[in-house]
Amino acid sequence: IARKSRNGRQTRTAHIVVLPYPGQGHINPLLQFAKSLASKGVKATIATTRYTVKSIHAAGVAVEGISDGFDQGGFTQAQDEDAYLKSFKENGTRTLSQLVHKYQETSFPITCIIYDSFFPWALDVARKHGILGASFFTNSAVVCAIFCHIHNGTLALPVNVEDEEPLVLAGLPPLKACDVPGFIKEPESYPAYLAMKLSQFSNLDKADFVFCNSFQELEGKVPKLVGPMVPSYYLDGRIEGDKGYGASLWKPLNDHCAKWLATRPPKSVAYISFGSMVKLTSKQTEEIAYALMRGNTHFLWVVRDSERHKLPSQFLEATEHRGLIVSWCNQLEVLANGAVGCFVTHCGWNSTVEGLSLGVPMVAIPQWSDQMTDAKFIEEVWGLGVRCREDEFGVVRSEEVLFCLKEVLEGEKCEVIRRNARKWRVLAIRAVGEGGSSDKCINEFVTNLKIFKH
Ligand code: UDP
Repeated sequence: IARKSRNGRQTRTAHIVVLPYPGQGHINPLLQFAKSLASKGVKATIATTRYTVKSIHAAGVAVEGISDGFDQGGFTQAQDEDAYLKSFKENGTRTLSQLVHKYQETSFPITCIIYDSFFPWALDVARKHGILGASFFTNSAVVCAIFCHIHNGTLALPVNVEDEEPLVLAGLPPLKACDVPGFIKEPESYPAYLAMKLSQFSNLDKADFVFCNSFQELEGKVPKLVGPMVPSYYLDGRIEGDKGYGASLWKPLNDHCAKWLATRPPKSVAYISFGSMVKLTSKQTEEIAYALMRGNTHFLWVVRDSERHKLPSQFLEATEHRGLIVSWCNQLEVLANGAVGCFVTHCGWNSTVEGLSLGVPMVAIPQWSDQMTDAKFIEEVWGLGVRCREDEFGVVRSEEVLFCLKEVLEGEKCEVIRRNARKWRVLAIRAVGEGGSSDKCINEFVTNLKIFKH
């Protein structure tokens, strides 16, 4: 942990304020990190948008509202991502600063702001108040490394990568065209997202600490461009009574899922989820639905209400004896259920590490951004599953879904994949367990917080 200056001698109760980007895939890992710190005697407060305050209920972590400028509806009210980020920076700087100020005269002044790496401006707030600033990356170390190369100028945009001429970067396996984030091949396709990804590095060298939501044994060979690694997702008994993150932007149907899963044989169910943001095309939704209709696999599929109209009309009736569709669930609880035999995933980084740390084999159907890179590692580097191949129109056809489901649930590769899944689960447990690589990082961080003198 790169502690730079201002070490004092006095030991006191440290108080961290954690600032996530207000999406499910960002709130979850930052909240989990806050909970781990709270379990080690640090006072933890999560600062989230007023719109998301009511969605967070985590034991041991206080919740405070700040403003992104859209207090009634969040980013859906902004004109576009660019406008949203500008508004968040302006209003967030002001209201986060007020929050820090509010605590300064209490017996728990804030020691450190742990900010989502998407919000580098939070370091300026920390500096203004003379407290520590820590950047937290929610992507894999590999993906961070790719964007860091672009920021540093060691990789030029657009990145031209062909299957015959893969992208070769130090410490990473060669990456083919389908393995790299789309943003870097076509920078003009998502300019605001690309700018946000690159802004993560704008003042990183000035941060007091840098965390990455990963662990040494998983990505330790990736050059340390973004600091030490701390996983913050792991469920099993690490924090007593912890059965999930404690944040949900949608209402989870947990009892319904648990009851349904209890009626299924062990390792028989395909749990299918594309996370909180992906909107599959109607064609892609239909192909997955046809695969489930034609096969005999039991499945639990999370289809958000806004996506439900894309299901073929005869689908629900045709599969009701084998399948359950829910609008949202507690994914950690589902993945930890013994009836689940595989995870059909879009390979968001949280879903990837959750599947990995709960030892669930995966069928990867990545859609965009870092998911392409995560899918490559799931299949080829960690041997945790298989990746569905797209046809020439960029669609994963039902035959391919059926084939991959079979491979992971009962095919030739099934035993090898299950063995790898067990291995990674053990390594994840060790990393966060007492004396493990991540536990040591967290302890070192806590020590630094406790000796910090205002
Ligand atoms: N998730 C959940 N219930 C669901 C689907 C997803 O709790 O029904 C959680 C999941 O556990 C993960 C997060 O939502 O922590 C999604 O993050 P990820 O990085 O996988 O994908 P994103 O939504 O950012 O694309």
